[in-house]
Amino acid sequence: MLGNMMFQPLLISSMIEHAGRYHADGLIISRNTDLSMVETTWAKVRDNAKRFANVLQSFGLQTSDRVATIAWNNHRHLESWYAISGSGLICHTINPRLFPEQLVFIVNDAADRVLIFDKTFLPLVKAVKPLLKTVEKFICLDAADSAVSEAMPDVLFYEDLIAAQTPDFEWPELDELSASSLCYTSGTTGNPKGVLYSHRSTTLHSYAICMPDSLNISARDVMMPVVPMFHVNAWGTPYAAAMVGCTVVLPGPGLDGASLVNLIDTYKVSVALGVPTIWQGLIGAAQQSGSKLESLTRNVVGGSACPPAMLRVFKEQFNCETLHAWGMTETSPLGTSNQYKAKHMHLSEEEKLKIRLSQGRPPFGVSLRITDEENGTNEIERDGHTSGNLQIKGHWIVESYFGKEQSALTSDGWFDTGDIATLNDDGYLSISDRSKDLIKSGGEWISSVELENLAMGHPKIAMAAVIAAEHEKWDERPILIAIKKPEADLTDTEILDYYADKVAKWQIPDKVIFVDAIPLSGTGKMLKKDLREQFGKVLLS
Ligand code: ADP
Repeated sequence: MLGNMMFQPLLISSMIEHAGRYHADGLIISRNTDLSMVETTWAKVRDNAKRFANVLQSFGLQTSDRVATIAWNNHRHLESWYAISGSGLICHTINPRLFPEQLVFIVNDAADRVLIFDKTFLPLVKAVKPLLKTVEKFICLDAADSAVSEAMPDVLFYEDLIAAQTPDFEWPELDELSASSLCYTSGTTGNPKGVLYSHRSTTLHSYAICMPDSLNISARDVMMPVVPMFHVNAWGTPYAAAMVGCTVVLPGPGLDGASLVNLIDTYKVSVALGVPTIWQGLIGAAQQSGSKLESLTRNVVGGSACPPAMLRVFKEQFNCETLHAWGMTETSPLGTSNQYKAKHMHLSEEEKLKIRLSQGRPPFGVSLRITDEENGTNEIERDGHTSGNLQIKGHWIVESYFGKEQSALTSDGWFDTGDIATLNDDGYLSISDRSKDLIKSGGEWISSVELENLAMGHPKIAMAAVIAAEHEKWDERPILIAIKKPEADLTDTEILDYYADKVAKWQIPDKVIFVDAIPLSGTGKMLKKDLREQFGKVLLS
């Protein structure tokens, strides 16, 4: 017997309809590409999304055709997202920091028919245009601009296109399993692979990230996603924001610390999200300006491990709770987030901080297990210290990659993340490393993340990467590559001595190399592959 309740497909269009109807005057504050600020509302975003849906329909696109975006976090990008997915097309967000060859590869792989871009990216789009085999229309996400038209005569302008349309558009009643958006992994582990989200997976993920034990987002929040909309859909926050009708601050191209401090203080941002390198910049700028970031009650850190020293600074200097979260493109991305349980509340601040360091626990809808082999099926104990291969399953986890027939799952239906981790019996996850970044020294594993976190706690170090260097006797040994803080006077002996009472002797790096810069991926992660290529042989005679 079936239940007697209504069935409504879970659709992205219903999120923007909800926000437009019940949070009509809710604010979206957005920074343009020329750095000027603009304020709009959920009702206007919905209306413009419908206007743009009319534009897309006038192009004769078919359901599930791909429309690509290369844009910052701004209000027009947000409107175009809802227009694209809401009208049954697939929104393919592209990371502009990819190498041009990778960008060409993914546009052709996705067979994008329309490409929408911010003015900033005109030189990039113009350069790759002749290589894009499927794109028929190029839309600049701005008002008409003669410099842009001169550079690309066939370009269309977003503001002109929507001005010619009405907001009358009937969102189609799609199957909730139909595809809504496409995001490629950033390729730090090989060729980029497409992950194709559905309306259903996106909606369930949005519910999950709003929950109090996840990111705890409500109508009373002023949320600033610093994580780009092209990095796993800004971790799903633009959808969650419409679902709850919170105020949204979109930082556009200004991702430096000073610009972010300014936005937080001006617009009273209560929750902001980003990768550790973003927070590094923010802390420096706030310390310099004397801002206490008073409105910021919490910030979400993910994408790479959160250095413990960072958690402490946010708490002690800015009275801001740092929520550590883990996920990946393949997991929409939220896999875990770190919130306490009732039994933790009486613990000392120091003990609570230790819990905060883990990547947190899964929300309802996600299951985790640790196995003793990559892609294996044999689960090992959740004892908080035996590490193994992290696997995940759930409503918003990938099943197969875009355009690939074969399943991406283990024989019993789990996705192997490529991360090495432990789980404890409360469900808290601790990532030790990515399997390819682990250092194997004489048959023993050393976590690069642990050594980096310790280095980041040193007052004279601004950024640190630990990689495996080849070694004649031990196969691999850790070496530390570090950037000193401005004007800091630091020697390699000082940093090696600093490790002495913190890790076992055999885990202490064999060498310290000071550099001026560490290469970062398009999403702000340290490119350890490049560092291994550059420094991987320094220990060989
Ligand atoms: P890519 O795989 O191309 O780097 P993703 O953004 O999908 O792009 O990266 C996912 C990976 O990032 C995870 O598998 C994990 O290794 C790492 N990661 C994400 N969040 C955290 C975190 N909080 N702590 C440690 N590692 C993390």
